Amino acid sequence: MSPYRIPYGCQSIDQADIDAVVAVLKSPWLTQGPTIERFERALAEHCQAEHAVAVCNATAALHIACVAAGLGPGDWLWTSPNTFVASANCGRYCGAQVDFVDIDPRTWNMDAQRLADKLEAAERSGTLPKVVVVVAFAGQSADLQAIARLSQRYGFVLIEDAAHAVGASYMGRPVGCGAYAAMTIFSFHPVKIITSAEGGMVLTNRQDFAERLRRLRSHGITSDPAVMQVPDKGLWYYQQMELGFNYRMTDLQAALGLSQVARLEPFVARRRELAARYQQLLAGLPLTLPVAQDGAESAWHLYVVRLDLSRISLTQAQVFEALRAQGLGVNLHYIPVHLQPYYQEQGFAEGDFPEAERYFLEALSLPLFPELSDEMQDEVVEHLRRILD
Ligand SMILES: *Cc1c(COP(=O)(O)O)cnc(C)c1O
Repeated sequence: MSPYRIPYGCQSIDQADIDAVVAVLKSPWLTQGPTIERFERALAEHCQAEHAVAVCNATAALHIACVAAGLGPGDWLWTSPNTFVASANCGRYCGAQVDFVDIDPRTWNMDAQRLADKLEAAERSGTLPKVVVVVAFAGQSADLQAIARLSQRYGFVLIEDAAHAVGASYMGRPVGCGAYAAMTIFSFHPVKIITSAEGGMVLTNRQDFAERLRRLRSHGITSDPAVMQVPDKGLWYYQQMELGFNYRMTDLQAALGLSQVARLEPFVARRRELAARYQQLLAGLPLTLPVAQDGAESAWHLYVVRLDLSRISLTQAQVFEALRAQGLGVNLHYIPVHLQPYYQEQGFAEGDFPEAERYFLEALSLPLFPELSDEMQDEVVEHLRRILD
């Protein structure tokens, strides 16, 4: 529960969602049963992907996607500094080293040109990344066309962290379809586009990745005789083929997630409507508003503006305090990952990724969620207008 009258994000749970969870509770399967598969199939179909593997959260999804991509000690994973820490931590779980590619100052996503330059330098020094995690910040894909070309040229596995972007599209096709990324990750945390309370999913068109992901989410165990190393000894037989995890989603969570897939389109439609209203209502204020990436249609997980600090008398902190004092749960996405103490210990310092750092000093996430009414949104705009005046 948010302590604010109008939070920055909030789930929407209706009676159908509740009934779906209760029905599973009364069934014989509470975990890893038939509802998981239905949830996976529903989202795979919606996103035009071949395979979907549900797990307990998107952090676990990122982790096993990196394992499936072959990431290990001595390898490099690159991601954007403007993201939640999980996009980088997945590399550390695998024992790999993490580095960042600064953001495009217009879209706030990883800058494809900076990525190209950094890859060129890394090729010369023999430190090319094995995995690049590209974040669809706020629900909008990065320049995936250019980044996918770089992935082919330099041989890294492209993982799209689309935790913000289920329901978004890119070049006319759903995010997750696999036209550009080898694997796409979704999060179903309550604050994201659709929820399963906790939950995540990996979408891929590669059969080998899908099989590996299924095995990794459940201890590295298989009961499929075709992949065992010694002949099957009976119906009760299973073999652990590698070191896996217990990253399973429960059927209770899958029931909520599946029910929410049916609401995905109206959720995203309402988010787009509210974002378009913000664009109109905020025009003329001392703010930089979000800019569209070519070919991307955002799912609008977040509505972020940048304060034009040269034109207002308050600091960023004062703007936050003034809005929060009105019960408006404004937020900040994100503190650049390389400025976190853990990553400073890994050798990163202030000044390493100046665009992400400049962005961080000006960013402000305004309330945006499907049940936000026009009246509540008008109120947010009025307070902001008054504070910035
Ligand atoms: C929320 C989020 C995650 C992690 O999702 P969980 O399901 O909470 O583990 C990863 N990456 C990004 C960009 C996120 O916003």
